[in-house]
Amino acid sequence: MSSRSNLATVRLPSIDSLLRHDACRPLSERYGRDALLAGLRQLLDDSREALLTGQLQAVEVAPEVLAGRVAERLAAQHRSQVRRVFNLTGTVLHTNLGRALLPEEAIEAVQMAARYPLNLEFDLRSGKRGDRDDLIEGLIRELTGAEAVTVVNNNAAAVLLTLNSLGARKEGIISRGELIEIGGAFRIPDIMARAGVKLHEVGTTNRTHAKDYEAAIGPRSGLVMRVHASNYNIQGFTTRVPTAELAQLAHRHGLPLLEDLGSGSLLDLTRWGLPAEPTVRQALLDGADIVTFSGDKLLGGPQAGLIVGRKELISRIKKNPLKRALRVDKLTLAALEAVLGLYRNPDRLAERLPSLRLLTRSQADILAQAQCLQPVLAKVLGAAWSVSTEPALGMIGSGSQPVARLPSAALCLRPHSSKRLRGRSLHQLEGALRGLPIPVLGRIDDDALWLDLRQLDDEPAWLAQLDQLHALLEVEGQAG
Ligand SMILES: *Cc1c(COP(=O)(O)O)cnc(C)c1O
Repeated sequence: MSSRSNLATVRLPSIDSLLRHDACRPLSERYGRDALLAGLRQLLDDSREALLTGQLQAVEVAPEVLAGRVAERLAAQHRSQVRRVFNLTGTVLHTNLGRALLPEEAIEAVQMAARYPLNLEFDLRSGKRGDRDDLIEGLIRELTGAEAVTVVNNNAAAVLLTLNSLGARKEGIISRGELIEIGGAFRIPDIMARAGVKLHEVGTTNRTHAKDYEAAIGPRSGLVMRVHASNYNIQGFTTRVPTAELAQLAHRHGLPLLEDLGSGSLLDLTRWGLPAEPTVRQALLDGADIVTFSGDKLLGGPQAGLIVGRKELISRIKKNPLKRALRVDKLTLAALEAVLGLYRNPDRLAERLPSLRLLTRSQADILAQAQCLQPVLAKVLGAAWSVSTEPALGMIGSGSQPVARLPSAALCLRPHSSKRLRGRSLHQLEGALRGLPIPVLGRIDDDALWLDLRQLDDEPAWLAQLDQLHALLEVEGQAG
């Protein structure tokens, strides 16, 4: 059939008749008449075009069919941009995937804070105005030994605010081995500059001695800073002044020692077989005057930056007008208090705090899960792929212990295609997995797609969508 005759014989229904059609009425109800109208116009334009090029047949312009298609389009347009995903990358605290998952207690607290008025800055005992930091100060004192706390939006903000409050127009002394970049353009020298602190770097990348700090201290000095190297590791011929010694040195000259711990664990993680991370309590015991750390890294809570330490310094920080610009909202505080509350009972923490539960899952457990799921996935993918269960090495993520690996297990998906086509097959599978209703994110390595199952909690939801993979692979195949 030529396109001309096609256009002549197939007639598109009018917008009005479609709007009145039974199949469209619920759509108007749900998305509003304007959105439906715009959707129908667009669809009819596209259909007219398709008719002209002979790509459309009469059955495809039946009102029911058009209504179905506009429903699909509207659903896609109205789908939330914030989407749940399966993080099977092997990196637990993945910055791009939202880091820590909150425990139920925190989710309930967030719901309460979202739904009702609350005593955010109101002291219920005195009936007077309160301070939002007071809501968690008791817990922080108990859990870290700090005298006081103030909370801001994230740890980057915590570092900026602290530096600006305690060191503006003065020099900040720091080892060259700690002038790190954390990613997302957060670099210690840049943050110092923005905070108005003049960087005074001492020592070398691999070795910094007490005498280097000593020599740098003078009338313009404002503070001594120590930064957790986070996402890199210096090995070999190295020297670093222990925090206790550095604190004594700073205090001898009347300077505060500021320690940015990055992840900053509240408890010694080795009790759960995880690599040792410096604890906030230990940093304070060693003499750090202010310690900063993240809420959503190893702590396992909401995004936040905690500034803890000496009361007098914290009150100076709280008086900084920047604090108002960087403060946290009620949802964050509610979640943070609930998470901190769980730390009161360390014996049950690993079962109640999702990040710790996931970090401490045993390799045997993950292997067993992979073995169960392997045949299911093999069946879905068919003969073109080999699916095997393999040991894998995951990471904590977020700059905690960059060189430590978590023994884990993965489904390893290898295309049978020729070496030349392998990259494209992997790319297509990766795209298809990403196109699932709950996108599945793995990692490509060594000519295979790896799905690390450490974080596959919700197996039913994962399995339920697998049968859609076939259709998506075909789409990806055509696109590729
Ligand atoms: C992660 C990190 C930061 C930034 O923390 P955010 O909470 O991501 O803002 C700052 N300093 C160090 C040492 C870090 O590891």
